[in-house]
Amino acid sequence: MIRLDGTKVAADLQAELTQTAAGLREQGIVPGLAVILVGNDPASKVYVGRKEKMAEKIGIKNFAYTLADDTTEQQLLELIDQLNQNDQVDGILVQLPLPDQIDEQKILQAIDPAKDVDSFHPENVGKLMQGLPGPKPCTPNGIMKLLAAYDIPIEGKHAVIIGRSNIVGKPMAHLLLEQNATVTITHSRTKNLAELTKQADIVVVAIGRPNYLTGEMIKDGAIVIDVGINRLEKKLVGDVDFENVAEKAGYLTPVPGGVGPMTIIMLMVNTIKACRLRRTP
Ligand code: NDP
Repeated sequence: MIRLDGTKVAADLQAELTQTAAGLREQGIVPGLAVILVGNDPASKVYVGRKEKMAEKIGIKNFAYTLADDTTEQQLLELIDQLNQNDQVDGILVQLPLPDQIDEQKILQAIDPAKDVDSFHPENVGKLMQGLPGPKPCTPNGIMKLLAAYDIPIEGKHAVIIGRSNIVGKPMAHLLLEQNATVTITHSRTKNLAELTKQADIVVVAIGRPNYLTGEMIKDGAIVIDVGINRLEKKLVGDVDFENVAEKAGYLTPVPGGVGPMTIIMLMVNTIKACRLRRTP
């Protein structure tokens, strides 16, 4: 089994992005990323901290906003409007989930699509569906980059995705389809799910259930991508029963150190891209 090392691939991309950012700085351009955190969710705080740290390392200027738990939808919309107008801000990210009083869709739709570095705005989702150029969502695009870094061919492969969220499952299907995979999307109502995963050349699991995918559910040599992040008492685990699946899989992503670092670095890729598109001829 070959471990798909997201930490290493992300570090290589980080080095490239740092050079690109330095080149932009020579032209007097400092890419800017605004990260908005509303409330005190501990996991969200950790993710936001990692994103800000990575931006800083690369030479992207952070515009960090930590808002109180009782922030109103209107207040958040006003902040987004200011950031949309701010020429120094190339990317705007609102960390999800948001508190109940705020309509997530309304917020995501308020972000200028040109600054939508998470690619959750319906305009960018539509572009992805139609195969038009635009920012690609970070987690699934990170997975595609990881597969490419290991020269894993996608064309003609049967990919089974477990999970159909807007953030992972659905965009993952489009990116795989774009590269000519045959894609099956499964979810909590799928019957005989293991029958499908056993036929898969590529399995992407994104459900948030610790150790869900076992060796019996895959075929020999399968490429297994574990998106899940589950915090158990003493450690972080994915949706894949790692030891068990490792005996049968051809390639497998670890948790941590697989998809997670790729997600963060793709956010930086999208920020630098958004900056170049907006600010360079
Ligand atoms: P959601 O909760 O939005 O979606 C979960 C999906 O899994 C749903 O489609 C659900 O089906 C499906 N599902 C749940 N249980 C089962 C089951 N037993 N069998 C089959 N399908 C099931 O989650 P996200 O997509 O946002 O995240 C999934 C996981 O990935 C989480 O652990 C999250 O923390 C992690 N994650 C990791 C990232 C990274 O960078 N590594 C980035 C984003 C997420 P249904 O639609 O029918 O309810």
